[in-house]
Amino acid sequence: MAENITLEIVTPEKAVVSEEAQIVMAPGSLGEFGVLSGHTPFMTSLKLGVVRYVDKANKERFVFVSGGFAEALPKRVTILAESAERRKDIDIERAKAALVRAEERLAKEGDDKIDFTRARAALARALLRIRLAETARL
Ligand code: ATP
Repeated sequence: MAENITLEIVTPEKAVVSEEAQIVMAPGSLGEFGVLSGHTPFMTSLKLGVVRYVDKANKERFVFVSGGFAEALPKRVTILAESAERRKDIDIERAKAALVRAEERLAKEGDDKIDFTRARAALARALLRIRLAETARL
């Protein structure tokens, strides 16, 4: 069997994951990529998306990331994310409240006090958090 790799996911606020993984899939800016032990080293930026990995016990795990950077080395993947939570730690009510706030801002078309780019990014984060958390309930 292939060797495991160490996956670290950190944000400016907290360490979210520090664990052995059999495979890591991440949302690179240029598309999703997968890393197994022994991979050629590379670095990439990440977009909003989901990091998926298979842990030592063969369980698939899901982590929300809102963008950042990833560095893959032969035995380690390090993800520096702007924000990140494990699927089980997503607070759906908080994400729904963030969605409503973003929708209210986006509805104020033409209001030059609103930062629409920021509101669209908040909307995308909230929608993804809700979608990811809800898949855990299926
Ligand atoms: P909010 O407006 O609710 O803060 P946001 O999208 O602006 O949402 P971020 O800037 O992405 O929040 O994240 C700030 C911090 O709050 C991060 O540590 C992130 O992990 C955490 N966080 C944000 N939303 C949630 C959520 N719904 N469930 C759990 N943690 C969350």
